[in-house]
Amino acid sequence: MNRAHTPATAALVLFSGGQDSATCLAWALSRYPCVETVGFDYGQRHAVELEARQTVRQAIALAFPDWRGRLGSDHVIDIASFGAIADSALTADRAIEMTARGLPSTFVPGRNLVFLTYAAALADRRGLDVLVGGMCETDYSGYPDCRRETIDAMEIALNLGMDQAFRVETPLMRLTKAQTWALADDLGGKALVEIIREDSHTCYLGSRDPHEWGHGCGTCPACELRARGYAEWVAV
Ligand code: ZN
Repeated sequence: MNRAHTPATAALVLFSGGQDSATCLAWALSRYPCVETVGFDYGQRHAVELEARQTVRQAIALAFPDWRGRLGSDHVIDIASFGAIADSALTADRAIEMTARGLPSTFVPGRNLVFLTYAAALADRRGLDVLVGGMCETDYSGYPDCRRETIDAMEIALNLGMDQAFRVETPLMRLTKAQTWALADDLGGKALVEIIREDSHTCYLGSRDPHEWGHGCGTCPACELRARGYAEWVAV
């Protein structure tokens, strides 16, 4: 595929307010002089996730003067109609369990394909060259739309369909959750780790109970993954 040879100057981070996308935001701010964020409101059970986005953005801007000038607009796109189709445990009042296909009921079919399509359309309008997403196949290998193979196919489709030369960066693709904490430490030291620990939100149930690794119910799959990763990282 032909790619533009001009250096990338502006990025759009798919930013949910969770640990992974908060780390991606810092990663993008450390590389690109202009970074915007986009979040999707698809009828999540809990508005706490969308609130966490603003808290994390503000905390990063406050703690990192070099990054403050790079952090541009935030966009929230309402895709409630997709949430209505998806009918998953995240959007409907169902228990989190494994389905017959071996996927957790939290899997929303094609969610990242939809996110990337909206993000690319927005990036086109905003003149941004790079899309950054926290997709990771290490911990969520059961999610087919988190695999790099899927992202590569999507990158080609978006560039063909929009006559663009976007790059879709997935810096966490091969990292474990412990390595994602380590990356945050590398990028922004204790200050960034503390912002992510304290302000980011990953719990499926929307709980903000305090724990060593941050806030959450402590028992849902997202909390278990986060707690285990944090414990592994601090043990190193
Ligand atoms: Zn939880």
